[in-house]
Amino acid sequence: MLFFNKELKMDKFFTFNRVTFIGFGLINSSLARVFKSKSLANEICAYSRRKQTLLKIKELNIADYIYDDIKQSVKNSDLIILGVPVGVMSSLVQEFATSLKSGAIITDVGSIKKGLIDSISPVLPKGVHFVPGHPIAGTENSGPESGFEELFNGRWCILTPTKNTSKDAIKKVDYIWQQAGMKVTIMDAEYHDRVLAITSHIPHLVAYSIVGTVTELEDQLKTEVIKYSAGGFRDFTRIAASDPVMWRDVFLNNSGAVLEMLGRFIEDLTALQKSIRWKDGDALEELFSKTRDIRKGIISEEQE
Ligand code: NAP
Repeated sequence: MLFFNKELKMDKFFTFNRVTFIGFGLINSSLARVFKSKSLANEICAYSRRKQTLLKIKELNIADYIYDDIKQSVKNSDLIILGVPVGVMSSLVQEFATSLKSGAIITDVGSIKKGLIDSISPVLPKGVHFVPGHPIAGTENSGPESGFEELFNGRWCILTPTKNTSKDAIKKVDYIWQQAGMKVTIMDAEYHDRVLAITSHIPHLVAYSIVGTVTELEDQLKTEVIKYSAGGFRDFTRIAASDPVMWRDVFLNNSGAVLEMLGRFIEDLTALQKSIRWKDGDALEELFSKTRDIRKGIISEEQE
């Protein structure tokens, strides 16, 4: 099921009084940079668990207040943005839920949606609004120093509210992502997880698998592969350099959709194997032409 968000646009400029970023890695620090440069909040607060990250946030001078106490960090915040691995989001929300003020909005940037809605919604106090979100933008780099304001420019952001989510809260979260330069759409959470399984999760799994195969090669061959790595393998290594914890959590929390799409992918790979063994050049050429068209489509949508 797919909805569109025609009536969601905010008609005037809006400023949050206090925003708290829970986790301050690539995505949240990039969004915090947008908040700072566009003055989207009067006070920008950041929570991180490691001292080293807190010191880095201080040095970067993006946040006004820095916390190592998660409950303190959300007190009096109008907006809380979760930017940690999806596997820890709900336990962190459980930790600070009682410190939230009534009317607060929680949103997240996690790469999976259905599991988060199921685990976060029940622990929220009445009067707190949860607007699940996923900016489809990123790089293979991690940490606050790798963030940059332009990360989201021209990309899509998918919001997956339920039918009970406050329209006003959706409007405000939609507004933030538009301020970050994103095109925003609204989607059913399960549908989101199936789409992302094929467009993002399986490609990462394939990259991890191919690069993993190289780690198993004998030393001499491994050295040659690394030395002469051409476009294809090099591109896979970039994807396979993505954060291990973040991706572990994506696969564990979207296993249903990933296994479904993986089944289809393995069938297609086996068909290709057969074409090569039978020297069926026509089948290979036909498929490689179709895949070229997909690439052209992505370029014409300006998503390359
Ligand atoms: P990141 O750069 O690796 O940063 C992760 C952040 O999470 C850090 O601030 C880290 O804090 C914190 N963290 C990690 N484990 C934690 C734990 N157990 N308890 C508390 N905090 C913890 O990550 P990211 O790439 O910004 O990804 C954040 C979220 O965005 C993930 O849910 C991911 O699915 C989603 N996302 C990522 C991309 C992408 O391309 N990277 C794209 C779209 C969405 P410390 O530094 O203090 O350890």
